[in-house]
Amino acid sequence: MIPEETIDQIRQATDIVQVISGYLRLKKRGKNYLAICPFHTEKTPSFSVSPDKQIFHCFGCGKGGNVFSFLMEHEKMPFIDVVRMLAKNANITIHEEKGTDLKRKVLERVTYTNNVAVEFFQKILTSAKYKSIVDKYLKQKRKINKEAIEYFQLGLAGEEWDGLIKYAAGRDLSPEDLVQAGLALKSEKTGKHFDRFRQRLMIPIINLSQKPIAFGGRTLKKGEPAKYINSPETSIYVKGNNLYGLNFAKDAIRETNEAYVVEGYFDVISLWQVGVKNVVASSGTSFTSQQARLLARFADKVYLFFDADSAGQQAALRSIDYLFNAGLDVKVIVPPEGEDPDSIALKYGREKIEDLKSNALDYIPYRMRDISLGNMGLIGKEKLVKELAALGDKISDPTRRSLFISSAADTLGIDPQMLRESSTTSTAQSQQIRNKQLDNNEEANLLSLLFATPGLIDSVLEKLSPEDFDSRKLARIYAAIVNQYRNKSAINIGTLIDNNDDEDFVSLVTAIASREWDADEIESNTNKALTALLAQKRKRIRTRLKQELTVAEAEGDHEKAERLMVEIRGYGLYD
Ligand SMILES: [Zn+2]
Repeated sequence: MIPEETIDQIRQATDIVQVISGYLRLKKRGKNYLAICPFHTEKTPSFSVSPDKQIFHCFGCGKGGNVFSFLMEHEKMPFIDVVRMLAKNANITIHEEKGTDLKRKVLERVTYTNNVAVEFFQKILTSAKYKSIVDKYLKQKRKINKEAIEYFQLGLAGEEWDGLIKYAAGRDLSPEDLVQAGLALKSEKTGKHFDRFRQRLMIPIINLSQKPIAFGGRTLKKGEPAKYINSPETSIYVKGNNLYGLNFAKDAIRETNEAYVVEGYFDVISLWQVGVKNVVASSGTSFTSQQARLLARFADKVYLFFDADSAGQQAALRSIDYLFNAGLDVKVIVPPEGEDPDSIALKYGREKIEDLKSNALDYIPYRMRDISLGNMGLIGKEKLVKELAALGDKISDPTRRSLFISSAADTLGIDPQMLRESSTTSTAQSQQIRNKQLDNNEEANLLSLLFATPGLIDSVLEKLSPEDFDSRKLARIYAAIVNQYRNKSAINIGTLIDNNDDEDFVSLVTAIASREWDADEIESNTNKALTALLAQKRKRIRTRLKQELTVAEAEGDHEKAERLMVEIRGYGLYD
């Protein structure tokens, strides 16, 4: 770990313009510099570098970031190596520190707590009391054998409301420890603690160091609406950063250089039972870019093996972007009607899976399989051209991209050159639409003005909180700014986007921050944006108060109704 102060020191000693000019030809335009974007194909420059804010943003493809992210992306270097390289250039010595003792202790305690929970859930599963449930559900219905139960460390949460709490007490763990690990909850009414998981089959989620970091719990109660409950995020578990089963499958994946991606825990377990071991699950949530990059560390090729129903097939389509972006070769397995990986493995075994795999489709034929181009209107066809062109843009490997484009052009019956052009215009167009939305959006304007003139923050802060924003995305950026200002009494875009894996967030921040304002338009535009947002805030409060008023009147609570009326008037009844 490198101390944050050192990273700040390196940032201050580094000039983004100087670094980027070592890779691209920069031309000065206004306050900023422009270049042909290295991250997408274009003829006219839309890649902008701001020396004031020390960021870059491409108005063509949306890529943005600071000097660290530019080098990470352009040189394919991990963050830590970029920091070391820039430190060397700036003659700064790095004193790396081990994670502070306290932090390490917390992490160790949570891991220990999870270990105790695995042990407890396994004990319950093998106890005489629950034998019939286990036999009926796991062995008969799910057809999971003893070997798999042990291998995947499956367990059971019983009926007791504090079974784990009592067991953990004997292992020197307090209820508060269990809360920290996401395994217990505290009742707000009584102040008492109770187990988070009850009457559920427990599936431990294990990280690459073979430590349990979270749990998935499958209900065993009929009619229970929440089929699955998962651990909340904790100090050692971030949702969307893990792939279920990767700890078990990583060797098999490395060996074959291929991975099956399935949806659920039981798909992984059933495939493993029939001898297919290079399998991971996205576990419910749709695939994230982190998961895609994680997988790309172990394999070059991915077979998406999702349920045959439309939800499963939609999930497959949605995952493609990230997988392409991570440099993976993706094929899609189309299961027979009404089946899923779990049922196929149990009914037909390994051979059928290999058979389906050899018939897996490339993305384009998969996308086109229900589409008849002949019956498609011009608009539909144009949309499809743009969609495939945009997807082609995401493939970083030039050879693979070129193959994808020719195959897409071939399928659509158009000239590949046309598709190539469409690819650059389609991303540029969508970015233009986005810029236009940002232009007319007072919320984005206000953020952009704050980046341009950080001194404004004091007066804005006292009038607006993140909840007052309509756009959740912009609210997040505002919250980040406020948070940074409160902690560091300054706004620094570089730190705001450091090491942030959320490309959408970073792209939006750099797009907003790259906007230039003339000195004489700042005050009037700030006032305009603030007025708009405050009106929006008043309107929202008024709507809420009016709803409360309706309720109070209906309930005959005259006193409350009276009070609400006064309050509503205070917010300007008629404006
Ligand atoms: Zn670009």
